[in-house]
Amino acid sequence: MKDKKYLFGAIFALGVGSLLLLLIFIFHITNIQEKLILLQIIFACVSIALFLLGGLLLTRYISIFEKNKSLEKENEYGLGKANHFKNAEAFINVVNFTKRRPRYKNVEQYVVCFTASNKRLTQNSQRSDSIIQLNGMVSEILEKEFEKENSFSSNMHLYAFDKGFFYIYCFKDNEIQVRNLLTKIRETIFDSPNTQDLKVFVEPLFGVKKIDKNKSIIENMDDASVARNIAENRFEIVTFYDPSFRKIASSDETKEILEALQNNEFVVYYQPKFNLAQKRFTSSEALVRWNSKKYGLLPPSKFIQLAEVAGLIHEIDTFVFKRVCEDLNEAKRRGRRIIPVSVNFSLYEFFSSKFLDVILQMLETYKIDPSLIQIEITEGTSIANQFLSVSIIKKLQEKGILILMDDFGVGFSNIGNLRKIPWDVIKIDKSFIDNIAFDPKAAEIVKFLIQLCKVNEMEVVAEGVDNIKQVELLKKFKCDTIQGYYYSKPLPKKEYEKFLQNNPFEAKDKEGNLK
Ligand code: C2E
Ligand code: CA
Ligand code: CA
Repeated sequence: MKDKKYLFGAIFALGVGSLLLLLIFIFHITNIQEKLILLQIIFACVSIALFLLGGLLLTRYISIFEKNKSLEKENEYGLGKANHFKNAEAFINVVNFTKRRPRYKNVEQYVVCFTASNKRLTQNSQRSDSIIQLNGMVSEILEKEFEKENSFSSNMHLYAFDKGFFYIYCFKDNEIQVRNLLTKIRETIFDSPNTQDLKVFVEPLFGVKKIDKNKSIIENMDDASVARNIAENRFEIVTFYDPSFRKIASSDETKEILEALQNNEFVVYYQPKFNLAQKRFTSSEALVRWNSKKYGLLPPSKFIQLAEVAGLIHEIDTFVFKRVCEDLNEAKRRGRRIIPVSVNFSLYEFFSSKFLDVILQMLETYKIDPSLIQIEITEGTSIANQFLSVSIIKKLQEKGILILMDDFGVGFSNIGNLRKIPWDVIKIDKSFIDNIAFDPKAAEIVKFLIQLCKVNEMEVVAEGVDNIKQVELLKKFKCDTIQGYYYSKPLPKKEYEKFLQNNPFEAKDKEGNLK
């Protein structure tokens, strides 16, 4: 740049000098006609020079303008400031550089986006210092890992960090290799001795985009960050970008769910649970339905997953909980029979102490005895349950709220987890119950699961029971409680209240009171 300045200076001085010399020369010419011709030539030259200069300035202005625009775009992703670790240019240069290198021609390129902690944990925690500490630690780990990897293999890695987001650029043959790399990074983060105090905040979930060479690196990175959001909503460790994600995020369905929440289109049904020893219904489960103006009555299978991906499940769960409190309050005021109700909650709620406040506040507002509320948690496929906050669970239990493990036996829920969390009740998943009436092995498994819960002094509920043979077997296995179509399908509030008042399963004395 400096050299260019001198060059322009020299050309400018040379031009002005020659002009002066020419003028002096003209001054000495006596022939007027010749003088005029020469002056006209000079005038033409100066005009051309000015024209060229104008053009030059204009193109320069346009290029500065364009550059600023692209910088603005980069800064949207915080890349301008990313040189804290490695800069954005490294990312962009690598793409351009490798395009030209035959060595990388057949190797796929991927960009990964992740955060060290998940959004909900970060938002709900006041301990931003911990998050800063965690990000610093993760970047050190990446630095060390990649230093090793880059020196051993031809597949190099780069990463950038800004505003809480990490981006990794890597060269791998296939998705399995990417998965392996990310699993290793995740494990290294978990195993780091510095993680001890920060464990509750660690939840790296990765969004990955296989580089589309027809798109700019920034667009590819944006796709990776969309995949990361989906990973978080699905509680999935690695999520590869799919164009449908964009449709989900801005889909009409997502907007419709939001509108349905505002228009009160969700309704709560209740399914009673029958206690075999007491021979009566001792609790029920609240199950949401969407009474859509457009589609009619929709079961959760039609919208829960979508709500999870769109990040709206918290809103739905909170709505259901509020409605349950309202219904219990109303039934109490009208002097109707009330039994405890279990509500389904995402396990992510248990990372935030605000959850406890929300629950207790709602119970107070509607004057509900905490013993009337139970909470069902599905462990699902998240490894996050390793860090499920036992202290929040214990505080809820101290208030008298029972905590239920939903879908026991499915996915990641295992015997180890059974003891780690002080569950009050275990619900054996319907898929285990389905075959017990005609498959002796299936029956043996359920018998074993029930015994396992009994040894741990936990109450057992079998769900999805729809025939008498299953009931008889479960009775024999000393199962405590049964939920299923055999007793009742989930019912709308009014029918449920009627069912509690009068049903063929509970024995009554002559006055019509429960025995
Ligand atoms: P889940 O929590 O395991 O609920 C039990 C499901 O089994 C319910 O389906 C219930 O109607 C069904 N079921 C009960 N007994 C029988 C039976 O004998 N036979 C058959 N075939 N099915 C039976 P539903 O209401 O369609 O709910 C499906 C799932 O949707 C629930 O599974 C739960 O995971 C989710 N869900 C429902 N309401 C909520 C909610 O308010 N919040 C959240 N996060 N999830 C919900
Ligand atoms: Ca449930
Ligand atoms: Ca279930």
